[in-house]
Amino acid sequence: MKISAQTQLLRLSQGQLNLLERCPRQFQHTYLEQLHSPCDPEHEERQTLGSRFHLLMQQQQMGLPIDLFLLEDPQLNSWMKAFANAAPDILTPTTNGQTFRESEHYRILQVQDYLITVIYDLLIADNQQAQILDWKTYPKPPNKRNLEQNWQTRLYMYVLAETSDYLPENISMTYWFVQSDGNPQNIKFNYSISQHNQTEKRLHRLLNDLTKWLECYYQGGQFPQVPEGSKACDYCQYATRCERDQPTSEQMSAIKSTSYGIDNNLLNLARIQEITL
Ligand code: SF4
Repeated sequence: MKISAQTQLLRLSQGQLNLLERCPRQFQHTYLEQLHSPCDPEHEERQTLGSRFHLLMQQQQMGLPIDLFLLEDPQLNSWMKAFANAAPDILTPTTNGQTFRESEHYRILQVQDYLITVIYDLLIADNQQAQILDWKTYPKPPNKRNLEQNWQTRLYMYVLAETSDYLPENISMTYWFVQSDGNPQNIKFNYSISQHNQTEKRLHRLLNDLTKWLECYYQGGQFPQVPEGSKACDYCQYATRCERDQPTSEQMSAIKSTSYGIDNNLLNLARIQEITL
């Protein structure tokens, strides 16, 4: 059965593609069954602060006053001050009437039976080039390669190239990490036609898989799990549901083969996870 025949076109964001690639079963539980547990309060607080920073940047770009918010929130105030020092041209642009700037810029692209949606924190474009900017309110990640492979980087530039006249070579994406030891840092990615073609292939492969898995799911099946022993299961909230919270057969063999017959680390692992049950 075609997906479109039985449901509306499914919207997909970069976060959903990341999850789908990490573990299809996790995608099933999170998005199709909405089984995810509420965030822990600390995480929620960080998220709220991050959302407030995004909102503030949006207001600032729209030319609305933000001073009152900054007075009330010392954390936002220090992020904003540091960001203004590090990237004055972003916060106080020269207005020449030739440059398009929009925060929370939304784009949508249909690929197969899916609506791929992206929201750019800020898009700056002129008749030569287009820059996508994204704010992150956590410290700069050490691994640029991982960020490059992340669906947010690939999809954001892919969708812009597909939905505008800009050549891939004239598109870039820059992440700003506002919390990097009080001194915001950025990571910039340029784009190219070969990256565009690679992303297209990768996207189509993943969506073909998703269509197959959805068809199986609507007939009573389940999305595939990652192989036993995968790191993804170690921190997954569905480990109990997936029966991945017990030592694997390899770990059991390791327990049996230690000279004492018991490996304390594995025993501890098993014990900790039993308490979780
Ligand atoms: S426990 Fe492992 S297999 Fe199950 S959803 Fe999580 S990551 Fe996937």
